[in-house]
This record gives sequence, structure tokens and C-alpha cells, in this order.
Amino acid sequence: MIKFEDVEVVYPNGFRGLSGINLEIHQGEFVAIIGLSGAGKSTLIRAVNGLVPYTHGTLSVGETVVDPKNKSKLRKLRSKVGMIFQQFNNVGRITVLNNVLIGRSAFTPTWRSLIGWYGHQDKEVAFQSLERVGIVEKAYNRAAALSGGQQQRVAIARVLAQDPEVILADEPVASLDPPTARKVLGDLRTIQRDLGITCVVNMHHLDLARDYADRIIGMRDGKVVFDGPTAEATDSV
Ligand code: ADP
Ligand code: ADP
Repeated sequence: MIKFEDVEVVYPNGFRGLSGINLEIHQGEFVAIIGLSGAGKSTLIRAVNGLVPYTHGTLSVGETVVDPKNKSKLRKLRSKVGMIFQQFNNVGRITVLNNVLIGRSAFTPTWRSLIGWYGHQDKEVAFQSLERVGIVEKAYNRAAALSGGQQQRVAIARVLAQDPEVILADEPVASLDPPTARKVLGDLRTIQRDLGITCVVNMHHLDLARDYADRIIGMRDGKVVFDGPTAEATDSV
């Protein structure tokens, strides 16, 4: 599903963010990327949807080679690859429902969506997505009025509304308290199992990775230093 072949990222200032990355992530897998701050987790995940351009090797998602220079190809790729972030990236002053509806049109805007008009089917999908993350009763609240855990669920619902094949999550639980972090990871896990969506999730904590992921990829200094089923990840990672 996601294939890295000798992928390297050199940032414009010459800093080598990733080197010699060879990975195959299979459809429906739940993969945790772990490592210290600065290990290259975020760079790795952002390379997949072209947010960070890679400078060597080949990176592909399904049949599509990621080509950060080809804007229309990139838009198509991003419509299949949803991304969530540590800071939720919701629009605080609009409703939860409208935040989720953004996912219906973000990468394929129509004139209707540009003027904020969504059809019956869009709304149905948005409500289904909110139901899946358990916050449908917040649909008409302003996003800013929600707790951190609820806001991250809005972000997950928005990504679900775009009907993705892959969800990339860059430290999605880093700003949540431990019990809330576990609930949000549990939601992602359920989504991955029920819908067969491939999930690649960056996190700091090995214990969380162990409890929620099928596979753990450990990074350090822009390289993969461990890759194996969760059961094989020991404290020495
Ligand atoms: P992590 O997600 O594991 O904390 P990152 O992928 O964010 O690590 O960063 C890996 C390294 O790349 C860090 O040393 C960081 O400072 C560097 N880096 C990230 N973005 C840039 C950039 N735009 N330009 C130069 N260096 C960067
Ligand atoms: P986080 O720890 O939340 O991942 P970072 O500090 O690593 O945040 O990065 C925040 C933003 O700054 C990112 O967009 C990253 O690409 C950029 N960045 C990080 N390190 C550098 C750097 N050395 N030079 C330029 N940009 C950087």
C-alpha cells in the first residue's frame, strides 16, 4: 500500500531529515512510528502525502508514485490519504458539522462547496463520521467549545468524511491527557479494523504503541532502527 524505496529527504538548508528508508506498509495495517523528538517521524509521515518533498528514491501509495511537483496528482493522492495533526487543525468558530463537511470537498472543491453549500449525501456522510467517533451530539456546537479529545475526534471525522484509504496521524495524542489519548487511539484502532483503513501514527510512547499498533517502526536520526510486529518490540527499542 505504502512503499518507500531508498527514500531520502534533504531539507533546503541541507539537513538530512531521512536517509535510506525502505519500508512496505500493507493495506489495513496499523503502524506506530516511534522515536525521540527530532528522530524524523514527522518527516517520514509528511513525505507520504507530499507535504515534505523527498529528494531521492521512490515513494508510492498504491499505484500512485508520490510526486510533490505535480499539483493535480498530489491533490488526487491527498483525497485518498487523510492527515491528522497534534493541534487538531479545526476551524474553531464554525460548527463541528461544518468542520467535518470540509473533508467532503477539501481536495475536490466544487462551486457548491466553495460557497459553503453541501448536499444531503454530504451531510449524511458527515453525521455517520461523527457517529463513528462518538460525538454526533456535538454536531451543532462550535468546534472551539470542545475539549481536546473531542476536537481530535472532529479532525478524525473530517478525515473519515473524505473516504480515505490511508490515515496519517502526526502525534495525534501528544497534547491529550493519558486516558483521553488512549480513547482517541482506540477510536483510530476501531476505524482501522472496521473500515480496513491503513493507519500510520507517530507517537512518543512505546507503551501506547504496544497497546494499539500491529507493527512498530522505530526511528533515530532519520533512519529506521527497528521494524517488527508489536510483540517483538522490547524495551531496548
Ligand atoms: P520528529 O517528528 O521525530 O520529532 P521531525 O521529522 O520533525 O522529527 O524532524 C527531524 C529533524 O529534521 C529534526 O532535526 C528537525 O529539526 C529537522 N527538520 C524538520 N523540518 C525541517 C525543515 N523544514 N528544515 C530543516 N530541518 C528540518
Ligand atoms: P513538532 O515537534 O511539533 O513536530 P517541530 O519543531 O519539529 O514541531 O516543527 C515545526 C515546524 O517547523 C515544522 O513544519 C517543521 O518542518 C519546521 N522545522 C522544524 N525544524 C526546522 C528547522 N531546523 N529548520 C526549518 N524548519 C524547521
